[in-house]
Amino acid sequence: MRGRGPRPASSVPAPTVPSLPMSLPMSTPRARTITAASVVAAVEAQWGRACGACGARLIGHDVVIGLLMGQADAPRCTACLARALGDDVALFRTRARASVQRLGCYRAGWVHSDRRLARAGAWPEERWPRTLRLDADEDDDEVSATDAPSCAAPTCDDTTRQDASDPALAPTARFDAGDMGCGDLVLELRMRLQPLAPGDVLLVRATDPGAPGDLPAWCRVTHHTLVHHEHPLYWIRRRDDAPAPPTTQRP
Ligand SMILES: [Zn+2]
Repeated sequence: MRGRGPRPASSVPAPTVPSLPMSLPMSTPRARTITAASVVAAVEAQWGRACGACGARLIGHDVVIGLLMGQADAPRCTACLARALGDDVALFRTRARASVQRLGCYRAGWVHSDRRLARAGAWPEERWPRTLRLDADEDDDEVSATDAPSCAAPTCDDTTRQDASDPALAPTARFDAGDMGCGDLVLELRMRLQPLAPGDVLLVRATDPGAPGDLPAWCRVTHHTLVHHEHPLYWIRRRDDAPAPPTTQRP
């Protein structure tokens, strides 16, 4: 299994890293728990389990998206997650693919799932469109620290960007993630946004060179809004509704 691999520390623009304003309480990152290997392990452990909402058998891609959405302990299929967010299922899948492409740890799980489906001999097109594969371009699209994220979804930062001096950007909470990267960073963000009220802004400082790509990608799929960013600072507005997965199947 191959991922993007560690990024060279030399790509960090050392002299221009501002610190967070100190007017809000700050906590420190937890221990790192998400790695490419742990995502792949979760894929293997949960593949074939029943969706907690509709009972459909999960495939690996469902598991990867569920991890991104914070559903690790109560896995649900992608269709149920999309419905819980009020999203069109096909659009949600496409958005998730675009995001996972940027998030190395999760991408590893997606590619692993692609390969497992491919090895099965007959691709279950009706269950999961083949066009969502990522394994074919696995080796040729290394994400650069300075890549501008593509903007394909309505919650993308580029369509909602505001000026940092806008009073609406006054953060409710802040989080100094240091150089935490990829999987752990987005896991932390999910946990820190969860207790906030809809519309609250979390100011994040993330020095990882992948953050300029990772954070917009994660916001796009989770429906939180990256309202402004000046790396390494990111202003994330909590979405209106947490995904409240249904307990029964919807029509
Ligand atoms: Zn389901």
